Amino acid sequence: MRSTAHHADVIIIGAGVAGLSAAHLLTGAGLTVSVLEAAPRVGGRLATDEVDGFRLDRLGPLLCATWPELAPPPGLGAPELREFAPGVLVHSEGRHHRTGDIRSARGALKAVRPRSSAPRTSRAPWAAHSPSAHEPGALPRGGGRSGAVTGAFDRARLGAALSRLAATPEARLLARPERTVREALAETGLPARTVDGVLRPLLTALLSDPELGTSSRCADLALRDYARGGLCVPAGGSVALPELLAAALPPGTVRTGVHVTAVGTTSVRTKEHGELGCRSLLLATGAGAAAELLPGLRVPPFHPVTVLHHTAPVPPPTGRSLVLDGDRSGPVAHTAVMSEVDPSRAPRGRTLITSTVLGTPPPELDRAVRGHLAALYGVATDDWELLAAHHDPEAVPAMAAPHDPRRPVRVLAGLYVCGDHRDTSTVQGALHSGRRAARAVLTDLAVTGPHEGSLPRAA
Ligand SMILES: Cc1cc2nc3c(=O)[nH]c(=O)nc-3n(C[C@H](O)[C@H](O)[C@H](O)COP(=O)(O)OP(=O)(O)OC[C@H]3O[C@@H](n4cnc5c(N)ncnc54)[C@H](O)[C@@H]3O)c2cc1C
Repeated sequence: MRSTAHHADVIIIGAGVAGLSAAHLLTGAGLTVSVLEAAPRVGGRLATDEVDGFRLDRLGPLLCATWPELAPPPGLGAPELREFAPGVLVHSEGRHHRTGDIRSARGALKAVRPRSSAPRTSRAPWAAHSPSAHEPGALPRGGGRSGAVTGAFDRARLGAALSRLAATPEARLLARPERTVREALAETGLPARTVDGVLRPLLTALLSDPELGTSSRCADLALRDYARGGLCVPAGGSVALPELLAAALPPGTVRTGVHVTAVGTTSVRTKEHGELGCRSLLLATGAGAAAELLPGLRVPPFHPVTVLHHTAPVPPPTGRSLVLDGDRSGPVAHTAVMSEVDPSRAPRGRTLITSTVLGTPPPELDRAVRGHLAALYGVATDDWELLAAHHDPEAVPAMAAPHDPRRPVRVLAGLYVCGDHRDTSTVQGALHSGRRAARAVLTDLAVTGPHEGSLPRAA
């Protein structure tokens, strides 16, 4: 195994989480690796800007605490995660409703639904299982107002549906009929107010897809992750994850400020250092950049995402909750007081509110968002200050049905590709694709060793 400034066993293009997770596995197996990153820092789309002592993520604040890929590889410290309050806070008709917490479900549902009544249907696994669920209104509505987005019993039914989903093996979800989330939502058997007022905004937030044209299988996976672990963020900003991965690599493995302009199977051309040689090459860029370097690779459409950060004199009264709009009455898809979720993101005594707009942002963005936030939080927002707004037109690759969440990572022996566009369009998908690609490299190079056991999931 040779390593010089101009040669490595494996060259990885891109130091996002996909490239870094691949590098970790490859160096762990004894190979020399060079990760070439065009930007001056690691992390790719996981970027955290420092503004006046605030730590501002360009990413929407949604990760799932139970993602196996967030578990540290051997020898690596675990990322510190900060959890949102359980469930979500849906704002509808001027009120907040806490829902989507599976812990609230069990007792209430057991009282009315015998276990044996669960039918075997091809409906989504988060569909209500009780036969009476096909007859909205046949079940008691609990304490909610008529027409309210969710009453106590609706909450319990949703929580029960989510807890069933949490227990469903991934293979079973991936074997289910596939359609768009929109179509699947029409058949849940849950009351329309739960579907429209809770599931729709929750899935929109989890998938960054306001039209809900995403594959129902990907929605099942996303909702299952949510049901299993709730939502969390890395302490100090999303960049903490790639920084942790990069810090655990042998010194000199990651080279920032190196822009790759052309690739072959045994070499790459860079703007700054000319040609660098390798035995295997792994493209770990976003989909667009990968297709520029390797014409013929498919470029999916993307969901644009805009993230806004405000500071307010007084924190709105929603604690650590993720707030969703059950009425779809404005541009904000989800918002949270991030200084409550993760106090390290704001200077002591200051408040940070982070809000996400999906799709094409409206004209006069800040004014439109402030107006919507005033309604969602029930407080005046005129004296809030905009700290930053970041728009990414290629934030999240669309996962339209049919979507293969395990797209091949091996182009040919010696040439591999990974990233969120080869898996699910999430941090977890990116990490997982990197490990799948690293395993393919090791197999082709006939390198065996402890790496096999350290993979959390099958490729
Ligand atoms: C605004 C926003 C909100 C999001 N919200 C969520 C969310 O809530 N939950 C979630 O799970 N995911 C979310 N995502 C998606 C998530 O950030 C990505 O899925 C993940 O970070 C992709 O990682 P990656 O390593 O595949 O690619 P990237 O992070 O894109 O890394 C690719 C790297 O390759 C480098 N590169 C490109 N071309 C070259 C070249 N020619 N030479 C050298 N280097 C090159 C780039 O500079 C970059 O660092 C969001 C993304 C954005 C932008």
